[in-house]
Amino acid sequence: MAHTETHEKTLADKILERTGVDVRECYQCGKCTAGCPMVQFMDLTPSQVMRLVQIGDREAVQTLLSSQTLWSCVGCLTCTQRCPKDLDPAAVMDALREIAYQEGLVPDAQRNVLKFHQAFLKTVEHTGRMSEVPLTALYKTLSRDFFSDVLLAPAMLLRGKLPLVPRVIGGRKEVRRIFKRCLDPERPDRADEETQEDRP
Ligand code: SF4
Ligand code: SF4
Repeated sequence: MAHTETHEKTLADKILERTGVDVRECYQCGKCTAGCPMVQFMDLTPSQVMRLVQIGDREAVQTLLSSQTLWSCVGCLTCTQRCPKDLDPAAVMDALREIAYQEGLVPDAQRNVLKFHQAFLKTVEHTGRMSEVPLTALYKTLSRDFFSDVLLAPAMLLRGKLPLVPRVIGGRKEVRRIFKRCLDPERPDRADEETQEDRP
């Protein structure tokens, strides 16, 4: 504990810290890639992502953090369910996406995906759940993409898939507290710490 040797964290260390996943245990069986429904839209497959995190040199990190794959992953967890080593490639994708965002490496072609993530989170923060109309309105405003998919709206309205009154949940206050804690830069990494102000 007391030794002062400086040890620069590898990408694998950072992923382990953020997710609890030790990518060094991946033995490249490829089952995650074989099950991924989005692989055709990816420039790196899920198993390649795991391998590049293992390699972790400058070139590998650059390739990973600027890849389209991070923004094509839809978080369906198929890869995580299939992994025979009980690893969690979906969580690794999340962590890499977070790092890429923090380092300003979101590819231009994926800016609208980032805007969708932001609109989704804002909607959940305010309504406590995914709510179609506020989500769509916010995404369209952020992306300034006002007309794509607009022709789908009438059919969705007719089928009741686009409720005009936003659905909200009872525990919105608690959901907002979760967001507040997650966004707090001073947040201690101890779940049991709760300030007076946090309590309902
Ligand atoms: S399924 Fe698991 S062990 Fe196999 S390549 Fe994917 S992450 Fe690695
Ligand atoms: S979570 Fe992402 S990487 Fe994993 S199977 Fe789904 S889309 Fe593919």
